[in-house]
Parts: sequence; structure tokens; C-alpha cells
Amino acid sequence: MKKFAVLICLFVHQALLAQEKPKLIVGIVVDQMRQEYLYRFERKFGESGFKRLMSQGFMLTNAHYNYVPTYTGPGHASIFTGSTPAIHGIIGNDWWDRSLKISVNCVEDARQKPIGSVEGNGDVSPWRLLSTTITDELKLSSQKKSKVIGISIKDRGAVLPAGHLADAAYWFDSKTGKFISSTYYVNALPTWVENFNALKLGETYLNKEWNTFLPISQYTESGPDDSPYEQKWKGVDKPIFPYDLKRLKDANGNYDLMIQTPFGDDLLASFAEAALKGENLGKGDQTDFLTVSFSSPDIIGHRMGPNSIEVEDVYIRLDRNLESLFNKLDSEVGKSNYLVFLTADHAVAEVPQSLKDDRIPGGNFVEGKAMRDELNTFLQKQFPGKKLIEYDYNNQLYFNQDLFAGDPRTSGIDLLIATDLITNYLQSKEGVAQVFSKSTLKQGGYNEAGIKGMIVRGYNYKRSGDIAYELEPGWIGGGGPQGTTHGSSFSYDTNVPILFYGKGIQKGSSAKYHTITDIAPTLSVLLRIKFPSGCTGQPITEIIDGK
Ligand SMILES: [Zn+2]
Repeated sequence: MKKFAVLICLFVHQALLAQEKPKLIVGIVVDQMRQEYLYRFERKFGESGFKRLMSQGFMLTNAHYNYVPTYTGPGHASIFTGSTPAIHGIIGNDWWDRSLKISVNCVEDARQKPIGSVEGNGDVSPWRLLSTTITDELKLSSQKKSKVIGISIKDRGAVLPAGHLADAAYWFDSKTGKFISSTYYVNALPTWVENFNALKLGETYLNKEWNTFLPISQYTESGPDDSPYEQKWKGVDKPIFPYDLKRLKDANGNYDLMIQTPFGDDLLASFAEAALKGENLGKGDQTDFLTVSFSSPDIIGHRMGPNSIEVEDVYIRLDRNLESLFNKLDSEVGKSNYLVFLTADHAVAEVPQSLKDDRIPGGNFVEGKAMRDELNTFLQKQFPGKKLIEYDYNNQLYFNQDLFAGDPRTSGIDLLIATDLITNYLQSKEGVAQVFSKSTLKQGGYNEAGIKGMIVRGYNYKRSGDIAYELEPGWIGGGGPQGTTHGSSFSYDTNVPILFYGKGIQKGSSAKYHTITDIAPTLSVLLRIKFPSGCTGQPITEIIDGK
């Protein structure tokens, strides 16, 4: 009888354990990481970094962004809101504010002041994000008892994931080499951040040399070190290893140079470990949430392109950073008590010049002021003396709406005619795939297929432009023979890793199509909390059920 009661007790206890939520969720974003890197660099990874997630967690191999533009701000917002720019409103890193007639940044907020550095870029908050995040929902469901901390090198990489209710977000101030925050979150830096800043790790890295982690002859997954497709730093003859930061720092912006090397990841990984301890994450009664966005892979990727030894080295080193972070989570929070997910905010295109040299279509599309001037000149024939195009951003054109305000018979400008002229002109240009007017996009459904659907889901009626265009595959906006970017609707920009690992997560992988908006609702189901307010994604049932 006694034995029986003990057994019942055990069963009840086990059932309760199964229902227990993770003590901590760590949401990792690797800025600009392609799914392909997991395979291409796999042989160079250790067993306990990326591979720990790949072999002991659940890996989606066919996960994509489902909108354009595939940029950093929208990417981070979409991961954590389970929504797209049409709804969460983060339509770019920057965009044209029609009423203010200025360019605005996705996280800038003039009402805030920096905390931790007087001159730092700290007038920042998530106020332009129109939906709740999964981190907000965790806060709401726990009556704000859960702790939420967001960290990154880039401000937007820390602020958007952490959401509106975060305890704090911290980002790197490249003027002072310190992690800072804003008055939106705190009145002063906590002691653990002050102590971390006092270590002056950034300064240490600035006096180091960046050489390859493994002997350079082993980097057979990448192109030659001396490549014509890589941007050189000031003061170097060739874009080759080793890079002596001590010698290069003055001419290349000091800490701005440091974050263009894997030392930026080293610094953030150390800061993540400091945050775990400093904030006692995963030690309370409620689930806590730490978001960590590694920015340096993006900054290096833009300069060097996806086939550079520099980028391979970044991932080999990041793999070791992850291993160290996971070990820390094991010891601090407990092996079966936390849940990690890892994804990226977008992937990246090949260097267009390298495609051209290989006789693959691609190119650099001239945009910005040069394109605006060209279009305004072209429109002079029809509308003399008028400057119709006010700005261009994120493959969109903003009209000077004041010109269309009056009666077209007196103003001489008809919106329909102007739209038609510009659309046809753009469509005729080499590199342009499709052009859509605002009225066409308005008629598009949210779940529409093809390029139009990708634009519709990324298009916010209040914030986006009057005309949107998409380039042909392999083309990027701007740039030159060296370096590359992202932003398109094509798979090289949309296909990113989604890896889940830890408490409540089955082992396995799935090649089923999933969108980036599925991460947040999956977490909602796992945590048994509400979906974020603008959520359009669906829970990834394979991860939860193991089927
Ligand atoms: Zn990014």
C-alpha cells in the first residue's frame, strides 16, 4: 500500500514536471546568417555549439522570411512579434516619414536619453513597434514578474526583441566602447553592467590581431583569402589575414572597427554571460527571457561576402562562443531547465560582381539620390518645374504628396498618370523585376503568393511608399564590385536557420516550409501564454509534438 502511494506520488510529480515551463528562454539571433552556413561550415564546428542545437534539438531546414524588405529591424521585429512589417510597422531600418519629411530610424525616439554614455546613441525605444512581442506577452501573463533582458551590439537588435515591457535592453556604444541603455528602460546602469564596462574588454580587443582560428589552409569551404570581392580597411594593401587592429584602429573608427571583427561576438557573448549572472536569470519562480543578437556576422558579411575566409572564421569562432554560453546555461540554470532558439534576421546575397564574373545574372542597381534625380528629370517633360519624387527607401518611392493635393486640372499633376509613368519607366530598367503601385498593393491579400505577396506583407499603408519594386534575382540595391547586402524576396535572403533546443523540445528536423512568423506562436504554445497581438504565424507543430 505504501509502495503504491509512493508510485502515485511519483506519477503526479512527473506529470507536474512535464507541465513545468522552462526557467529561462534564450532567443539568439545571428545577424545575416544563412541556413547554408550550418552545412558548409559543419565540419569546422565543435560538438557543443551549433551542433548541440542541430543534433540534440529540432532543426527546420526550410524556414523563410515571408516578406520584403529582409533587413535587420524588420527581421528582429518579425521574429519576436510573429508578424510582418504590414502589421508590426517596422518596415525598414530607416524609412521616410511623410509628415515630418525626414528619414527616421526604426528605434530612434527623441523623448529618450542615453544611459551610460552622455554622447552615446541612446535616444532609443521600441515605440514604433505596433504589435506586442512574445517577450511582452510573457511579461503580461506573469503580471510582469518574468524578467526580460535584450542585448546586442546594434541598438535595434536589442530593443525590438526585448519588446515594450522589457526590464532593460543594452547595446554597444562604439564611441565609448561601453554597453549602454536608454531612459525608456532605466535611470542608471545596474552594477553588473558598470562592472562589465569597467573591464574595458573592447579596448583589449582593439589591441589584438585578428588571425584565423584554425590554420588558414584548412578553410577549404571558402574562396581565396586575397579576393577581389572583399572591401579593404583603410591602411591595408590586400584584404588578407592577419588584421592588426592596433595598427588599423585609428584610421578605421576604433570600436567601429572592432565590431567588424569576431571580437564583437566575443564581447557580446561575455556580456550575455554577465547578464545571466547579474540579473539572476532563470532563478525565479517565473520564466525569464534573454534575447541575444550577434551583430558582427552581418557587419563583416557586408564587407567580405559569403564566400570569404573572414566570414567562415566568424562562424567558427561564434560556434565556440555558443558552446561557452550553453555550458554556462547548464551550470547556472541547469541542463533541463532552459530553452534556446537560434535564428537570423535575414540571410545574404552573393557579391553581384562575383556572379557576373561567373556568368550568372546579377548586378548593382543604382538607387538613392542618383535614381531620384534621374526620375525627376524624366518627369520634367510631363510635369515641368515639379519635383515629384521626395525620397526612396527600401525599394520604394515616396511622392511629394503636397503636389497631388489640389485639383489636377489646376495643379497640372494627376496621381494616376504620374504613377503610370514612373511604373513604366522603372519597369524598363535593367535589373528591375516587378513594380507595384500603392493602389495595386492595397488590392492584394495578406496571403497572396509570389513577389506581390512578399511586398504586401512588408507594406504598411501609413509608413510605406507610393511605388514598390523588386529587383531581379542576384541584384542588390547600390554597392559596387566589393561587398554585398540583403533585402530581397529571394531564397538566398529569406532562408535562415530556425533551431530549437532544450526544455519541451523534441529531437529532430523538418524540411516542411515554415515562415519566420511561426517562432513566436510556437513559444506561446510551449509557454501556454497568449500569442503576440499582431501574430500571423502558426505554431510549428513538429517541434512541439515531435512528428
Ligand atoms: Zn541584419
